[in-house]
Amino acid sequence: MTKLLITRTLPDRVLTEARARFDVECRASQKPMTEGEARAALVLYDAVLPTLGDQFTRAVFAEFETSRCRILANFGVGYNHIDVEAARACGVTVTNTPGAVTDATADIALTLMLMSTRRAAEGERLVRSGEWAGWQPTQMLGLHLSGKTVGIVGMGRIGQAIAQRCHFGFGMRVLYFSRSEKQLAFPAERVEVLTDLAAQVDLLVIAVPGGAETRHLINGKVLRAMRRHAHLINIARGDVVDESALTTTLEKGRIGGAGLDVYEHEPLVPEALRALDNVTLLPHLGTAALEVREAMGLMALDNLSAFFRGEAPPNAV
Ligand code: NAP
Repeated sequence: MTKLLITRTLPDRVLTEARARFDVECRASQKPMTEGEARAALVLYDAVLPTLGDQFTRAVFAEFETSRCRILANFGVGYNHIDVEAARACGVTVTNTPGAVTDATADIALTLMLMSTRRAAEGERLVRSGEWAGWQPTQMLGLHLSGKTVGIVGMGRIGQAIAQRCHFGFGMRVLYFSRSEKQLAFPAERVEVLTDLAAQVDLLVIAVPGGAETRHLINGKVLRAMRRHAHLINIARGDVVDESALTTTLEKGRIGGAGLDVYEHEPLVPEALRALDNVTLLPHLGTAALEVREAMGLMALDNLSAFFRGEAPPNAV
């Protein structure tokens, strides 16, 4: 029977299904795998079901010409923790779980957009502090979201789901920056230069994959181009945003605020960022709903099953 390593605890439904199909071993730690653990996994198992942060780096694959493990069926759509090219060179297939995560992650983007513009986290902290003195006409005034302009950076599956919500739900104008022009079922204009997009919008929402190509795509220059009242929302990967430049920007009040689900050195969130009231901080909640995590797990298992039946896995990357 195929020996499968599952690198983090998954929902019961997924584990039960995995055990019905494979000889499963579950890693006890909830922390991302180190390079040493990743290296060992390539030797000890036929397949691995890894997830966020598990270190399947170029250096790990460099030690193998071929590995016993033939497939990494990633749990999640983002796979910037896996060097896909290096895996391929060792004959290791990589798959992910697109689609299953799209709506849930778009919902978290909208949550952050509303929380940031309407100062919801700050307001909640005020009520919990016992210091709230009651309703006043000029208290805690935020930015009204309806009818504003959103700029989506990365108009892929999640970017489009966010844009749809913005257009149909909030009557917003949609602009976007992406590698390619998109055919969309709602009005949206492509802007070719990122700083031009940043300068025109009330909210800049990041939905590109992480990795070397997009590292610090949102840098000081892009942040300086944003309008003083505009908000930055990141549900993609932490290192897409230059976190230190963002912290300075927020400290100086150069933009209206930010809403973050992901961080550059996750799970480390710098004290300087945590000290600020104009940033909303969520603990990477994008796909954190039981049915979504179950769907992701079952999709990863279906990729494995197809692969070991000798078929092309549906979600090879
Ligand atoms: P996707 O469908 O592949 O969309 C990515 C989009 O980014 C595509 O439109 C792509 O353009 C664009 N893009 C890629 N590189 C770019 C670049 N250098 N400059 C400009 N645009 C670029 O992926 P998805 O399913 O929407 O997921 C996006 C990312 O969200 C994932 O990779 C993951 O890291 C993150 N995510 C986060 C959470 C969370 O929990 N917070 C949950 C799920 C996903 P083209 O279409 O032209 O190629």
